[in-house]
Amino acid sequence: MPLSGPLYAALFKHLPDGVFLIDPESSSILDCNDAALTQLGMPREEVLDHSVLSLQTDVVGMDQWASIAQAIRATDNYVFIGQHRHKSGTEVPVEVNTRRFMHEGREYFLSVARDISQRLALERDLHSRDAQLRYALTEASDGLWDWNLITNEVFFSPQLARMLGYGPHEMKPTLDTWAANVHPEDAPWVRRVLQEHIDGLRGRYNAEYRLRNRNGHYLWVHDRGRVCERDSSGKPTRMVGMVHNVTDQKTMELTLQAMASHDPLTGLLNRRECDQLLSSQLDLCRRLDVPLGLCFFDLDFFKRINDEHGHAIGDKVLQRVARTIASEIRTTDRLFRWGGEEFLLLCTDTQETDLLKLAEKLRTKIAGIGWHDIARLPDMTCSFGVAVFPDHADTAENLFIAADSALYRAKAQGRDRVECAPRLQPQPWQKFMASRPQALE
Ligand code: GH3
Ligand code: MG
Ligand code: MG
Repeated sequence: MPLSGPLYAALFKHLPDGVFLIDPESSSILDCNDAALTQLGMPREEVLDHSVLSLQTDVVGMDQWASIAQAIRATDNYVFIGQHRHKSGTEVPVEVNTRRFMHEGREYFLSVARDISQRLALERDLHSRDAQLRYALTEASDGLWDWNLITNEVFFSPQLARMLGYGPHEMKPTLDTWAANVHPEDAPWVRRVLQEHIDGLRGRYNAEYRLRNRNGHYLWVHDRGRVCERDSSGKPTRMVGMVHNVTDQKTMELTLQAMASHDPLTGLLNRRECDQLLSSQLDLCRRLDVPLGLCFFDLDFFKRINDEHGHAIGDKVLQRVARTIASEIRTTDRLFRWGGEEFLLLCTDTQETDLLKLAEKLRTKIAGIGWHDIARLPDMTCSFGVAVFPDHADTAENLFIAADSALYRAKAQGRDRVECAPRLQPQPWQKFMASRPQALE
């Protein structure tokens, strides 16, 4: 017997899983069934005021929703493990299966959300044979991993999988699963720290880095571990460790850093200060009718230092370079750490020829720094771009752009050199004024 309209409606109403009809553009809930109301502990009117953004603790902001919506459109059935916000303040773990469909020319998403708290409890139970493991899996908030160095198989605990938004059996249990999700900028040094522990050069493996979750967003994690089994020749065969989600602390730390005026690594003024000082210094120089020199410089091939010697050595190099430059400049000059291995120097009342001399002196000093006490590092060189107000630019922004372009040329022409911005072309009226006969003045 084919189902009638009312029977379909009853079926929808009584389905034991929460069913949500969602607007793909706004993520608003257009309709839902009774199980969905129970899952959220809310009356229908209240749920219809909500959206995926307000109900899913793992989905933050429209940008993230837009990328999830794209992923839903790209697959037949998008599965997501996350947490629903219950009205009582608790969070309900759910497995959500979402599909896109078209009806009368309009696009909809249909999500079926299954409460998996019981399943998770069962999983925890399954591990109860091993008392130690049970303790670690149920009591520790950290995600655990257990790596067989012979086969490269890795057991990822349900907490770790959940931390990254995966279902308990969705993370392929291999080292590649982890390696493929470490942020590309962090991967070289994290691998190096891990290798150093395996080679016996470090007592334990300890790293803070960015790890990608299922939605493609990065979490900051603190990952610790150590070798716990060796073969008869002493070669490591098994390593265990735990991953702690430190995204909140790290975000706070990065925010505080951004608010501060000094860069914590080198102690130099930071980029935020630079933005403010550059325009105020330029205004001052314009009023006093004196030149303002800007020198923008960037260490050459610095990434290799990190990749080949580790991030900690890279940090020491940056600190020493910063100290060296700071000791060579006047007290009235302002030195900033602009970004990673990029520095910026502001010199009030400094003409082009003097600034070029200073840049050349700094270039030689940096090339002459000895590194033998830190590690077997190659000589470090640096490329410089130089520009002066008002000769090469008329505004703070253009002054920076002029020095940046000069630096780009220094890099392109072989690095370890100083390049100066081209002089501004005089305006037609300036040419006219300059060519006027004296008698007319
Ligand atoms: P180029 O000569 O073209 O400038 O090459 P490069 O390798 O110096 O430039 P690139 O921009 O490719 O790499 C810069 C590197 O600086 C990448 C980044 O990991 C590193 N870095 C940025 N900030 C820090 C930091 O605070 N400490 C350390 N150790 N490395 C950093
Ligand atoms: Mg560089
Ligand atoms: Mg750079």
